Amino acid sequence: MKYSIFKIISQALSGNTGWQPAWEKRELKPSYNIIIVGGGGHGLATAYYLAKKFNISNIAVIEKGWIGSGNVGRNTTIIRSNYLLKQNQPFYELSLKLWENLEQELNYNAMVSQRGIMNLFHNDPQKDAFVRRGNSMKLSGAGAELLTKEQVMKVAPFLDYENARFPIKGALCQSRGGTVRHDAVAWGYARAASKLGVDIIENCEVKNIVVENGKCIAIETDRGLVKSNKTAICVSGASSLVMGTAGIKLPIESHVLQAFVSEAIKPLIPGVITFGAGHFYVSQSDKGGLVFGGDLDGYNSYAQRGNLPTIEDVCEGGMAIMPMIGRAKLVRLWGGIMDMSMDGSPFIDKTPIDNLFFNGGWCYGGFKATPASGLCYAHLLAKDEHHKVASEYKLDRFKRGMIIDEKGQGAQPNLH
Ligand SMILES: Cc1cc2nc3c(=O)[nH]c(=O)nc-3n(C[C@H](O)[C@H](O)[C@H](O)COP(=O)(O)OP(=O)(O)OC[C@H]3O[C@@H](n4cnc5c(N)ncnc54)[C@H](O)[C@@H]3O)c2cc1C
Repeated sequence: MKYSIFKIISQALSGNTGWQPAWEKRELKPSYNIIIVGGGGHGLATAYYLAKKFNISNIAVIEKGWIGSGNVGRNTTIIRSNYLLKQNQPFYELSLKLWENLEQELNYNAMVSQRGIMNLFHNDPQKDAFVRRGNSMKLSGAGAELLTKEQVMKVAPFLDYENARFPIKGALCQSRGGTVRHDAVAWGYARAASKLGVDIIENCEVKNIVVENGKCIAIETDRGLVKSNKTAICVSGASSLVMGTAGIKLPIESHVLQAFVSEAIKPLIPGVITFGAGHFYVSQSDKGGLVFGGDLDGYNSYAQRGNLPTIEDVCEGGMAIMPMIGRAKLVRLWGGIMDMSMDGSPFIDKTPIDNLFFNGGWCYGGFKATPASGLCYAHLLAKDEHHKVASEYKLDRFKRGMIIDEKGQGAQPNLH
């Protein structure tokens, strides 16, 4: 079924009785050409591009929970391509370009909203760093603008400009950045992939990767053994657990990150704002809730929930730049498990085991990467070679001393 305004009108007139499920519920087959483990945004996007761009058939996406239950439906919805390093910038810029046409491509309203992102700076060294990043963005065509304090005041008069500890001196702005309704991205890719013949298997957990003579030949699930020519792991926070079943130890730690939503208020925040002195980021959803977040909880965990000290810390960050947020009631919060790599950058790579591929290490920036990650992973799976914008996301980069440390924070996963 193609979605359109005419479809909405005709369905409204017929009592909305003709809608079909967005994707088909299919039975798990005994073997596949390619199995993607993990039905988050990245897994579903990979399946879609494999079928659409590389004409590959007999693909399954195997998901432990339901579509949208992982980080793809838990994030704070920010998209941007404001990166500095040459290993990252072209990749995230490709992703942003794919976002710009995603709804037409998938025939699905994912509420892609390029409302702009402003990274506030509070001192001169931070300004210098942002100017450098902005120049790199400009050179690669991503677009960037340095705003003065007065320009920021015009767009965001509600921020605290009198704060002596964190004076707002200006901002780096990417007007093409913004937000996308997170779970709609998973639903859109699932629907489009299913239409191209991909089997989307929900509520099926992969328990073990089966390796024989250095080659991955199958996976064991709670519904039995499934053979595959290629197996592509894409399980975000569960990366170390799943890859561990094949005996592979990853340079990844799992940490909790929480997200927060306030009660709905009148339109206030025009785009995304990030606080450069503490760690706080905020936008406003189309329903009116302030959507915000801050740092990781800071300890290793596989629990999809966080703890009170971080809630307090994030709220303090909010109060430091926009004290009026203290008047808004917090209505929801939740946690997701982040696959934090040691240098803050991801992996899209083959593994030392033949026919076993890995995608992960997205830290808390993987939502914006969803389209490019799917495309580049599909490219690697289909052609057996890296896509040119993802050619540095290799597992052995630490061994070669070629870390991609965008923030310059060293080997501290909980700081990236
Ligand atoms: C609170 C929060 C805020 C964030 N904010 C942002 C943001 O603003 N911008 C941004 O770019 N990024 C953000 N992120 C990060 C982003 O959400 C993730 O990096 C990205 O979604 C990860 O990729 P994914 O969608 O494929 O992961 P997921 O949706 O987590 O998909 C992985 C799937 O694998 C499944 N799985 C795990 N183990 C198994 C198994 N054994 N068998 C089968 N399936 C399995 C899981 O159930 C899950 O559905 C945020 C994350 C969180 C938690």
